[in-house]
Amino acid sequence: MVFVTFKNIRYKSIKRNIINMAGRYTKYLGFIIPVTIIVAVLCITAMAGWIFNIGILASVLPGFNPMKFNTAVSLLLLSLAVLFFTHYRKLNNVAQFLAIVGLTLGVLSLSQHLFKLEPDINGLFLDDDVEYGQEHILIMSPQSALCISVMALSLLMLNTRNTIYRVISQYLFHLITLVCFVVLIGYAYNVPYLQNFSTPYSMPFLTAFLFLFLSVASSMINPTLGITGIFTGNMIGNFMARRLFFSLLAGILCAGYIGILTHRYHVISAELGVALLTLSFCLITLVFIWIVSILLNKAYLKLKIAKENLNMVVEAAPFALVLSDNKGDIIEVNKHAEKVFGFLRNEMIGENVSMLIPEESRTMWMEKRNSFFADPTQPTPFNDEILAQRKNGSKFPIEIVLKPITTDEGLKVLSFVIDITLRKRNEELIQKQLIELQSKNQELEQFNYISSHDLQEPLRTVLNYIQLLDEDYPELSSEVKTHLSAMQSSVMRMSNVVKSLLEFGRLGRNRKLKLTDCKLLIHEVLSDLNTAIKDSGAIITVCEGHPKVFAYETELRQLFQNLISNAIKFRRKDAIPRIEITCRKLNGYYEFSVSDNGIGISSKYFERIFNIFQRLNKESEFEGHGIGLANCRKIAEMHGGKIWVESEEGKGSTFTFRILNFKP
Ligand code: ADP
Repeated sequence: MVFVTFKNIRYKSIKRNIINMAGRYTKYLGFIIPVTIIVAVLCITAMAGWIFNIGILASVLPGFNPMKFNTAVSLLLLSLAVLFFTHYRKLNNVAQFLAIVGLTLGVLSLSQHLFKLEPDINGLFLDDDVEYGQEHILIMSPQSALCISVMALSLLMLNTRNTIYRVISQYLFHLITLVCFVVLIGYAYNVPYLQNFSTPYSMPFLTAFLFLFLSVASSMINPTLGITGIFTGNMIGNFMARRLFFSLLAGILCAGYIGILTHRYHVISAELGVALLTLSFCLITLVFIWIVSILLNKAYLKLKIAKENLNMVVEAAPFALVLSDNKGDIIEVNKHAEKVFGFLRNEMIGENVSMLIPEESRTMWMEKRNSFFADPTQPTPFNDEILAQRKNGSKFPIEIVLKPITTDEGLKVLSFVIDITLRKRNEELIQKQLIELQSKNQELEQFNYISSHDLQEPLRTVLNYIQLLDEDYPELSSEVKTHLSAMQSSVMRMSNVVKSLLEFGRLGRNRKLKLTDCKLLIHEVLSDLNTAIKDSGAIITVCEGHPKVFAYETELRQLFQNLISNAIKFRRKDAIPRIEITCRKLNGYYEFSVSDNGIGISSKYFERIFNIFQRLNKESEFEGHGIGLANCRKIAEMHGGKIWVESEEGKGSTFTFRILNFKP
């Protein structure tokens, strides 16, 4: 079986969770408030019963032994102490004082029983001539005195915050619960011996009931400790304890009670009664074993499926998994490890991992492993290239991730090993292609530059000759002169196009990333375009929120200049040009827009206009060379962004571009 150790790992982490989850149990503290209030109210009622001579108030059930006045006082103090300890930390001292008073009352009452001391503690609270007649009715039973003393003592121990004292106090609460439970069983089955524990004083029903209630609530202060922990945990055992305990208890109590009734009313013989009781216990036990086995089987099945799934995932993992101990001895490997290293599983298990690492990488590997075991929580990056070796001795580059695995036998390391031979090969290929691409690009740029530059010269010569012809031969006919002028303007246009081409090639060559105040930059562009703005009468609005960004300032300025000058240039004749420049911040980007109310663009040209030398209008209508938007696209892409247009013919256009929020 692969990775048997996962079983222990899981168990350990569950155990650790349970130890650490005291905080999560604060929900049980809520249970304490109503319990302490109910106990306090019933104690006050009992005290009132004694003061106003209303017997039923002190016994709750008619004919039952009443709770003694001093017991009621002590129990009231203790319930308040529990409440203050758990919910009013500021009243901690008061709670401690109440517990000490409770302890004193309990110990005095107990010592009266043991040593017959004077003065009688009961006399502190009431006169001896209270109606109830018999002497023992006034005296607190030794069981109650014991419960009060133990309860007060455990509360004081609890307050020390010492772990050992906490555990002891938890078991003391359980002791009180047990004593009270025995007394209550005594009442339920009418067994005086269990009510008085062979003393002349029986513990009153109400006292036993309230103590049981309060001790169970107090054990919730540390819900993970003692028997309480069995009911509050999150494991299958706790779940089962919660589900079964109360039904089992109720079943046994009912069976016992029916047994008593049959015996009391002589319905059946004593032997038959015992036989039936035994039989019913057997049946109840069988039913519960049945339920438990079904639940356990279900849980086991789930666990088995989960384990099989885990094994499947481990086996199907596309990387080699190697589990080793702190000495480097291999404990387990998966199927892929066999494929990667060429060894069989049995050949690897029990051997040292050094068999998988070539000589030259061993020191680095050991260093990494040692630093990992020194602090497994810290990531151990393998920045340098590490090599592994196959069975046949061939070496290959790997990537490793180490993960700590806690087991019963100490800390282990799970190594995720990925063979990166192919990746390395591809990276090298890409690198080679990148270099080739860069040199091709440079060649192209060079070609563009040289050809544009060299073309300028003959064009200038042609222009000069046209000018010479025009100046030196005044006798030329007007027709020839018209031809010459047409030639001149064509050559000039060609010269401008070549110049634009040169600029396009050069764009971004000497770019420098700089913190750029976009608001300032836009205002500078507007001031450069002042004449065009005035001539056109354009109204330009620059919205708030333009940021300071790291950008190629010169190029960004050109981008804004092109968009704004286009917005002015492509205005409608029948409307005052209105231009709006906005900006918004997106996740990792800034998005700028330049909107106008100009002539607009048909949607079929939305893509095309960003290509070089693409123009939609005649030169005579709107002058230009069709290079501005191509430049804009290049600049936006240079900033890791893009540019696009939204427009409606005759209504206006919005050019939007995004740039990366660079963080150098
Ligand atoms: P140019 O302005 O030199 O013609 P551009 O590359 O800047 O070249 O623009 C390409 C074409 O896109 C323009 O010829 C024009 O038809 C269209 N265009 C650009 N901006 C606008 C705008 N704001 N409104 C309408 N059309 C525009």
